Amino acid sequence: MESEKIIWKERYSHPVAWDQQFPPLSLTDMLINSATAHPHAHAIDFLGRHYSYADILGGVRKVACGLQAMGVGKGDRVGLFLPNVPHYVAAYYGAMLAGATVVNFSPLYTAAELEHQVEDSGTKILFTLSAKALLPTALEVLNGSSLEKLVVGSIAGVLPKTKSLLYRLLKRSETAETPHDPRIIAFSKLIANKGDCATPAIDPENDIALLQYTGGTTGRPKGAMLTHQNLTANARQVEMMDPHAGEEDRIIGVLPFFHVFANTCILNRTMLNGGEIVMLPRFDATQVLQAIHRTKATSIAGVPTLYQALLDHPAIANVDLSSLRVCSSGGAPLPLEVKQKFEAVTGAKLVEGYGLTETSPVVCSNPYEGLNKPGTVGQPVAATLVKVVDREDPSRPAPPGEPGELLFSGPQVMKGYWEKPDADAEVFIDGWLRTGDVGLIDEDGYVKIVDRLKDMIAVGGFKVFPSQVEAVLYHHPAVKEALVIGIPDAYRGECPKAFVTLQDGAKETGEALKDWLNAQLGKHERVCAVEVRLNLPKTLVGKLSRKELVAEERAKAGEG
Ligand code: AMP
Repeated sequence: MESEKIIWKERYSHPVAWDQQFPPLSLTDMLINSATAHPHAHAIDFLGRHYSYADILGGVRKVACGLQAMGVGKGDRVGLFLPNVPHYVAAYYGAMLAGATVVNFSPLYTAAELEHQVEDSGTKILFTLSAKALLPTALEVLNGSSLEKLVVGSIAGVLPKTKSLLYRLLKRSETAETPHDPRIIAFSKLIANKGDCATPAIDPENDIALLQYTGGTTGRPKGAMLTHQNLTANARQVEMMDPHAGEEDRIIGVLPFFHVFANTCILNRTMLNGGEIVMLPRFDATQVLQAIHRTKATSIAGVPTLYQALLDHPAIANVDLSSLRVCSSGGAPLPLEVKQKFEAVTGAKLVEGYGLTETSPVVCSNPYEGLNKPGTVGQPVAATLVKVVDREDPSRPAPPGEPGELLFSGPQVMKGYWEKPDADAEVFIDGWLRTGDVGLIDEDGYVKIVDRLKDMIAVGGFKVFPSQVEAVLYHHPAVKEALVIGIPDAYRGECPKAFVTLQDGAKETGEALKDWLNAQLGKHERVCAVEVRLNLPKTLVGKLSRKELVAEERAKAGEG
C-alpha cells in the first residue's frame, strides 16, 4: 500500500497530492468564513439582481431560525423541490445551519417520483415555488404522503425590475393562488425573523449534509449520504485544481443545483472561493450566451450536451465570449470534437473531469493548467486514490494493461446509502468504493473511462464497450450525437445497435452510416443497425441516456 501511494505521489502533475489533508469543515462554516472575509462581494447574480455574501448569510440565518421555530432540528430531512433561484441557496445552507439534512429533488419530478423519494428519505418539510410547474405537484404530494409542511417561495419577489424575456416567461409561470392551508408557509413568512437564534453544533465528519438520490450501479434509486466533510473536501479538491481560482471568478450556474455536480462545482465551490454565481433558472442557449456577455463570466461547469448546445447556437460566433477563462465538463464523456470546437470558438480551456454521486462527485480531473489528455478524465484529485480491479473478481487487481473496474478512496467518498445496508455491502470493499465504471490508468497516471460495467454488450463470448463504438461514430462528419446499446441477436446473443442524430443539413441514411461504421470496427463490435433519429433520450441534467432505448428495444422484442 505504501509503495502504491508513493507511485501516485510521483505521478501527480498538478500541485496537489494523495497526502493532502483537509481539516474537518462544515458547509455552513465554509459559507460563514467567506461571508466574514468579503461580506460585500457579489455572491449571486440572478438575472441582473445582485446578492452579496452578507445578504446570503443573512437569508441563511433567517431560514435556519424559521425552520427551528417550526421544530426542525438535528438530522431532520428538509427537501428542496426548486430550480436555480436564490431561495435554493438560502434554503440549502439554512436547513444545514439548523442541523438538518438537505434532500435534493429534481424540479422535473412527477408527483409519483417526488412522493417515492419523500417517503424513502422521511422528508417532512419541502421548499418549493408558487410556479405552475412545481406547486400542483408539491400539493399532490403534501396531500398523499407523510410530508408535513410546504414552504412556498415566490419568484416575483426576487426578480429584478428589468423586463427581460426571461423575466416575462418566469412571471407568466407563476400561479395566481397558493391555497390557504395551515400546512403551507410562505417563504417570506419563514424568514420574517431576526436570524439571531442559536444553532446546533455540527460534526462535519459524521453529520449528513445531503441525501443525494442516484440509481447507483444497480439501478434502484437510493440516497447517497454525503457528510459536510465529504462536500467541503470535494469543493476544496476541485478548487485546488485551478491555481487562478478566486474572487474574480464568475461562473455560469445553469446546471441544475439539485444535481451534485452543480452543488459542488458551482454552488459550494463558489461559496468557498468568494466568487460569484451567474444563476439561470432554466437552460436556454440564448440566455446562457447573453449572460456570459452581460456579466463577463469567467467559467461554466456543465455536461457535454450543454457545450454542444452552445456550439450549435447560430449566435455563438457573434457573441464576445473572451471573458471565459476555463470551463469544466463532467457527467459523461466529452467528445473530442466538442472540446476542440469550444476551445477554438471561445479561447477558453475546457477540462474534463469525472465522478459520481457517491463521491460528492469529483474524483478525477484534468489539470486546469498543465497537460490535458483528451479522452481521459485526468488524474485523481488531491487525497484521492484509485485502483483498477478485475471485472469478474473485484478482490483481485486487473490483469496488467487490461481495463478493470475503478475503485476509489478519499475524503469525498460517501458515508453510505440511506437505510440500505445491503447496497453498502455491494458497493464498498475494504473502504474502497466500487464505481461500476470500467477504466484504465495510463503511464502518466491519467484515468481513461472505457465504459460502465452494466452497459457492456455481450457479443458471443466477447464484451463490447458501447462508448468505444460511439467514439468511432463521432468521427463521422454527419453525426451529432450517438448512443449504442445491445439488442437481442439470434446468433450472437446480443449485437450492438447504434442510434444517432445528425448535424444540421446532413442527410446520411442509417444504412450508409452502418456500412461506414462497420468498415472501421472489429468483428465483434460490428453493429447490426444504425437508426437515425431527430432526438436521443437525455437525463434531467442533459446526459445522453441509453436506458430508454434499451427499454424500447426490449418492448419491441417482446412484441415481436
Ligand atoms: P451520476 O452518479 O448520476 O452522476 O453518474 C455517475 C456516472 O456518470 C459515472 O459512474 C460514470 O459512468 C459517468 N461519468 C461521469 N463523468 C464521466 C466522464 N467524464 N466520462 C465518462 N463517464 C462519466
